[in-house]
Amino acid sequence: MGGMEPPLILIVEDEKDIARFIELELQAEGYRTEVAHDGITGLSKFREVSPNLVILDLMLPVMDGIEVAKRIRKTSNVPILILTAKDRVEDKVAGLDAGADDYLVKPYSLQELLARLEALVRRARRREEVLAYKDLRLYPRRMEAFRGERRLALSPKAFLLLKAFLEAPEEVLSKEALMRKVWGEEVEPATLEVHLSALRKALGEPSPIQTVRGYGYRLFLPEG
Ligand code: CA
Repeated sequence: MGGMEPPLILIVEDEKDIARFIELELQAEGYRTEVAHDGITGLSKFREVSPNLVILDLMLPVMDGIEVAKRIRKTSNVPILILTAKDRVEDKVAGLDAGADDYLVKPYSLQELLARLEALVRRARRREEVLAYKDLRLYPRRMEAFRGERRLALSPKAFLLLKAFLEAPEEVLSKEALMRKVWGEEVEPATLEVHLSALRKALGEPSPIQTVRGYGYRLFLPEG
């Protein structure tokens, strides 16, 4: 994710004064906000705007916060911060079981809310760190790589090779440079070739890895 746009926070809170207060404070901190006053609206807003974080009250009309969290988790790993009026262990546990990342017990201080938010947004951005080139995407922390929508089945070495290419797209990388990046030392050229060929096979056509005779390899796809 680019990380340039201010994070968008969805606030799902049925007490309108509280929702408004949180909204104004977050806007003052530079966040973008959306508000919903019940669970169902919260869920549809979530699908509509794809927020970077959800602040979710547990006691909500129509659909409670636990159910909202569970449904969000079916399709998204967006950070969820739950708010609960009840200082009861079972509520927190239920919320965390439903997939929430953190919780605050009402009454909480604004400073506390902002600190939790900031930490969750930062963590999510790290989690989403992505290397991308044309239709290739690689998530170093999740150890996942995609070509278009297709998830690539890669061995750990092939994954590291692709990562090395994505760190320097369109640059020619020598065999030795690739070896040092992936194995930490120079290895038999045949070893490199075996893993390169497995990576090429997993990537499919058109092949984004070009052989540059006498020099090495480079990640390159023509426009279009
Ligand atoms: Ca409530």
